[in-house]
Amino acid sequence: MNTLALFATQVLFVVLLAELCAGIVHWFEDAYIREDTPWLGKYVGRPNVIHHHLPRYMTRNNWLQSSWDLLLASVVIVLVAWALDCLTWHVWLFAAISTNANEFHKWAHRTRKENGRVITFLQRIGLLQTSHHHALHHTNPKNVRYCVVTNCLNPVLDRLHFWAGLEWLLARIFGLHRRPDTSLPEHGPAPAWLEELRREEPSVERCGEGGYAGRRKLGRRVSAAESSRREVEFSR
Ligand SMILES: [Zn+2]
Ligand SMILES: [Zn+2]
Repeated sequence: MNTLALFATQVLFVVLLAELCAGIVHWFEDAYIREDTPWLGKYVGRPNVIHHHLPRYMTRNNWLQSSWDLLLASVVIVLVAWALDCLTWHVWLFAAISTNANEFHKWAHRTRKENGRVITFLQRIGLLQTSHHHALHHTNPKNVRYCVVTNCLNPVLDRLHFWAGLEWLLARIFGLHRRPDTSLPEHGPAPAWLEELRREEPSVERCGEGGYAGRRKLGRRVSAAESSRREVEFSR
C-alpha cells in the first residue's frame, strides 16, 4: 500500500472509530442515564430527555454549551496519550472529531439556511450527517441511528442490531434495562417542567428545508403519510 493510501485508510479508521465511540456514548445516555441519575442526571440525563421531546431545542446552544462535556473527555484522552508517550496525529484527530460530535449532531437539526453553504455542502457530499439521515433517530421507538457524525456507520450497526445486542448483554450480565423514554406515547407523560421549554424551542417551517428522506426504515419503505408524520415530529 502506498503512503497516500495508507494515510487515507488511517484517517478513515480514526473517523469511524470516533463516530462509533460518540454513538456508544449517545446510546448509553439515551438508554440508561435518567434525569435523576446521581451526578450525571442533571448534566447528561436531562438534556437528553429534552432532546427527545424537543429535538430543535439544542439549536439554541452555542458551541461550548453543546460540546463542553465532550471537550473535557477529549482533554483527558489527549493527556493520557501524552503521559503514555503515544500522542500521535491519530489521537488529535480522534479528539477533534469526538469533541465536535454533538456540534455535528446539532447541525443535523438546523436548516440549510442556519447551517450556511459550507456545512450544507459537507452534508450534501456525505462528509457530515444529514437531517434526513438523523430523523430516523427521532422516529418512534427512537432506538436506532445513534451515531451522529456521518451517515456511514448507522446502516451497518442497525442492520446488525448492534444496539439491541449490547442492551441484551447488559441486561444479562448486570440486570440493566433501558429507562423509559417519556417522549414515546407508551412511556409518557412528559415531565411537567418541559412545558416551559416547549415555548422556547426554535421552530422551522419545515424540517431542514430539505424535506425528509427517512422514508426507508432499515431498508423497508414506509408510507408517505407515516413519513410526513415523522417529519412533523422531528421538526416540532
Ligand atoms: Zn437520542
Ligand atoms: Zn437529534
